Amino acid sequence: MTTVDLPLLPLGRGTDPLSERGVDCPGDLPAASDPDLVERARAAREKLGERLFVLGHHYQRDEVIQFADVTGDSFKLARDAAARPEAEYIVFCGVHFMAESADILTGPDQRVILPDLAAGCSMADMARIAQVEKAWDALAAAGVQDVVVPVTYMNSSADIKAFCGRNGGVVCTSSNAEVALDWAYAQKGEDTKVLFLPDQHLGRNTAVLQLGIPLDECVVWNPFKPNGGLTAEELAKAKIILWKGHCSVHGRFSADVIDELRAKVPGLNVLVHPECQHEVVLKADQVGSTEYIIKTIEAAPAGSSWAIGTELNLVQRLKNAHPDKNIMFLDRNVCYCSTMNRIDLPHLVWTLENLVEGVVVNQIQVDPQTEADALVALQRMLDLPGKSHRD
Ligand code: SF4
Repeated sequence: MTTVDLPLLPLGRGTDPLSERGVDCPGDLPAASDPDLVERARAAREKLGERLFVLGHHYQRDEVIQFADVTGDSFKLARDAAARPEAEYIVFCGVHFMAESADILTGPDQRVILPDLAAGCSMADMARIAQVEKAWDALAAAGVQDVVVPVTYMNSSADIKAFCGRNGGVVCTSSNAEVALDWAYAQKGEDTKVLFLPDQHLGRNTAVLQLGIPLDECVVWNPFKPNGGLTAEELAKAKIILWKGHCSVHGRFSADVIDELRAKVPGLNVLVHPECQHEVVLKADQVGSTEYIIKTIEAAPAGSSWAIGTELNLVQRLKNAHPDKNIMFLDRNVCYCSTMNRIDLPHLVWTLENLVEGVVVNQIQVDPQTEADALVALQRMLDLPGKSHRD
């Protein structure tokens, strides 16, 4: 069995700068029960004025979102940050790979800050650069590397985006994955294969449902098995090689619950994110990114019923914003993204108050070479024709 060095990081001790994981939080955080937290956050914001720009991902808690200057998905937020060159401090209320993308897209004098370094992403962690380089070598040994184009989802570390930049690949979001795959398949002639990182579900859903690639030409690369667990014949036949990664939040939704809810709620519309498993997407009425989900609910008629398969903070916010619609969560259990939820009011207050004192905590900095390579893959995405680049 192939092993890859993945140091165990007990919560609160140590960081692993080579992956999305980092769990240090130096200094004293205010207590979560401190009744003055909202006032303290407001006061610090006011003191920082235009020097500060706070970004809030849709999956963040309400207690944090209330302080965001803009909300959105990861790519929109990175672009919003790039459009504010006067902001000295970009506080990213989201997860680590998002802050990295913001650092790549913002100017060298802007500091991007993640209020809690433990806010990683389990999906991004599933593809580490050492594993991907090993897979790339194995594809060379199997004689197929020269027809493989790597495509990585925005939800990946800067290292992986840089790998794609160096190797003729591209970044995609959940909105433009189809266009990105079309582009990739035009790169190496009719034998082109795509290595899709790190979310097997987005890759499979897009390849099968939007490009019409047969399911049996989608193979899964398991980085913990020699040669990804694939035979030479399977690799030769494959049109898309899906990295064995998934979102631990969206992967929980199941086809059973859709059946159960449809039996109970007449006229139910099921709306899910493409990070959900293929069988869930097949049973849904509509599939789309977080921005698509928000717009669909905004445009839905009063009285309509919706079961939504995405992160719970967003579903609850939509439910509160649209009391005239019957909105429910597509899971029997509570299903927050635990790493997104690491960013809470105490961490935000701690970050802002340090900035007021002139201390930059938890800065996210991508090294210049990685940044340059990652920008190549991001630029290829920006140059794709058509659709928006929303995550
Ligand atoms: S919702 Fe999924 S993809 Fe998004 S940050 Fe959480 S684990 Fe990562």
